Amino acid sequence: MKTPSVTVKQAFKDCQDSQKYTLIDIRNATERQDGTPKNSIAIAADNLLHYAKDTFTKNHIYYIICQKGVSSLAAVNLLIANGMTNAINVDKGFKHWQECQLPVAQATVSAHDLRYSRHHQLHGFGKEAQDKLTNAHVLLIGAGGLGSSSALYLAAAGIGTMTIIDDDVVQLSNLQRQIIHTTDSIDSLKVDSAKQRMQAINPEITIQTVEERLDANNAESLIAHADVIIDGTDNLKTRYLVNDLCIKHQKPLVYAAVYQFEAQISVFDMRLKSSPCLRCLFPYTEGFEPANCSTEGVLGVVPGFAGILQATETIKIITQVGQTLQNKLLINNLLDNSYRTIKYKKDKSCQLH
Ligand SMILES: [Zn+2]
Repeated sequence: MKTPSVTVKQAFKDCQDSQKYTLIDIRNATERQDGTPKNSIAIAADNLLHYAKDTFTKNHIYYIICQKGVSSLAAVNLLIANGMTNAINVDKGFKHWQECQLPVAQATVSAHDLRYSRHHQLHGFGKEAQDKLTNAHVLLIGAGGLGSSSALYLAAAGIGTMTIIDDDVVQLSNLQRQIIHTTDSIDSLKVDSAKQRMQAINPEITIQTVEERLDANNAESLIAHADVIIDGTDNLKTRYLVNDLCIKHQKPLVYAAVYQFEAQISVFDMRLKSSPCLRCLFPYTEGFEPANCSTEGVLGVVPGFAGILQATETIKIITQVGQTLQNKLLINNLLDNSYRTIKYKKDKSCQLH
């Protein structure tokens, strides 16, 4: 069946009568920067069906306009398939509206929508996923190499609340990889330096800082109050503590470790009963402490890379978009660009769960 359509001129003429006709602009915030058809209302394409079900009335006609007439055609077909036969496509879209020199109004796009417009546009992500990020609370343990890159991207992505815990001050030898800090921030607390940078990127988000080393006294309440925990530490004792509390409070934990040219990343989503934990993957061995950056050195980009993957996993956990590294350990060697994924399961002999 041919999709019912009208020309832009007809749409403009009809929509003078708002009692009978409504013109709906489904373009995204970026497209709307050039203006919007006069007398139109803006509804994001992803929300159109939901909006239509709530508000469309029978004896009213709804014209749907997009940039070139392609998205609006699909949108109208979807509405019709859902029984809304009073939806009509505006042929050739806003581009043609402009060519015909029909009146254009200044679009009111909020700073929030403009900031996240590339997420809003992203198919399978959209405003819905962005809203989940806005409502999320992430705990970042450590503002070092891993924390630097994950914090910057998560701030930019608009995680509504972030708590960062670290008791260290910035040192000159950190700056080769801990890119959230600057030369000017040497001798300042890492949490203060990180907060300043993140807030400069995104003043919309709330950043809470804790100038302490994570230990058994402060960890529990911090973990209990967060939606996702990012492990950005470099010692096994703290990692086990975080792991054990994430099991207790059933929180997703995003793990990463770096060694020279290699990065390892995994997710332990303790909301799932079947989830393995850090102890299942790396059982406790008396006296064992893995090598760390200060003794063995590390290529500066390696923790940056691992931190970006931690940020990515965190975003996927919060938005429920895609598949995380749950039950998988991803090992990247950046020296020869080899990538391996090792699958693992909950260890039945693990004492913790
Ligand atoms: Zn376990």
